[in-house]
Amino acid sequence: MTKIEDRIGRRFEKLRISLLNTCNFSCVYCVSEDANDIPAVFSTNSIKEQPLTPDEFNRIISEIHSLNPLKSIRLTGGEPLLYRDLYTLIKNIRSIGINDIRLTTNAYYLKEKAIKLSEAGVKSVNISVDAIDRELFKRISRHPDPSRVFAGIEAAVKAGLNVKLNAVIMRGENDSQIIPLLDYATELGIKIRFLELMKMGHLYESKNGHFFSEAEILETIKEKYAIEKLPRKHAETANYWRTSNRGIFGIIANESTPFCHDCNRLRMDSNGIFYGCLSNAHGEKLAPHLHDKDQLTEKLKGLLLLKQPVRFHGSELSMRNIGG
Ligand code: SAM
Ligand code: SF4
Repeated sequence: MTKIEDRIGRRFEKLRISLLNTCNFSCVYCVSEDANDIPAVFSTNSIKEQPLTPDEFNRIISEIHSLNPLKSIRLTGGEPLLYRDLYTLIKNIRSIGINDIRLTTNAYYLKEKAIKLSEAGVKSVNISVDAIDRELFKRISRHPDPSRVFAGIEAAVKAGLNVKLNAVIMRGENDSQIIPLLDYATELGIKIRFLELMKMGHLYESKNGHFFSEAEILETIKEKYAIEKLPRKHAETANYWRTSNRGIFGIIANESTPFCHDCNRLRMDSNGIFYGCLSNAHGEKLAPHLHDKDQLTEKLKGLLLLKQPVRFHGSELSMRNIGG
């Protein structure tokens, strides 16, 4: 089997699949206010492509896995809990020998699904929560009542899932929430990761005035807690620290501390288009090449070449389409 590897040793080991591009939230950093970006579930006139079926996903995943062994799969979106055949899909993925299945969700529907997801074989969930303050959370998510998210988080912890929280920090919007979010995660005994705002989709050409850096996040936390840096694991997107009250937090600092040099992710968007890098909007449909292993290998090698050497720049890709 030809090794699909670039000249600095990067390989595709993790596949992120955006199951669908619809969502019940419209987070300000993810989608614009523009009418075309309103989630289909709220809109009568927006035309969305039908999501792929579990069989279609399975065929694509198994062909890639046979040429390029995958260690884990992350299901994302849009909102993956809105994908109708989620449990069937998870079962199918496990049947091809990939048992490390993870999910990234806004947790709105997690309270009722956490146990079933755990029983289906999901190991861990990353949950987006950008504020403890409910009014602020409403403004950021553009949802009238995001408070169910907290019940979802707590149900996932109870179900034994490995839970991590993700919070995108924006200057003047929710930088006041760093400590309340950290304290909430510490009380639950789970990790939280703060994300630097990425210039994706509608933010690509923006000035990024809301950007709040890794250094500023650290300064904010150090005002309350002494912190100690933890060693970074291979291909980890976040750097981690431990606080003096035994909380653990990470920072995903695409701008300040990019992790391109050992990035091992391949992404598939909700239309079945594959991307080698979030910072490169060039994508390829792999479905037409599944019948020919040589062609598929060449396509995967081409996607690997799109990874940036060292730096993340952002791109026009919509996060709701590609899944983060
Ligand atoms: N709906 C799910 C959720 O919110 O967790 C999954 C899809 S969402 C696109 C995946 C991740 O992308 C979330 O953690 C979200 O916070 C992050 N994200 C979206 N737009 C972003 C941006 N402009 N900068 C940084 N992170 C972003
Ligand atoms: Fe939906 Fe997730 Fe995007 Fe928010 S970040 S609008 S929850 S896809």
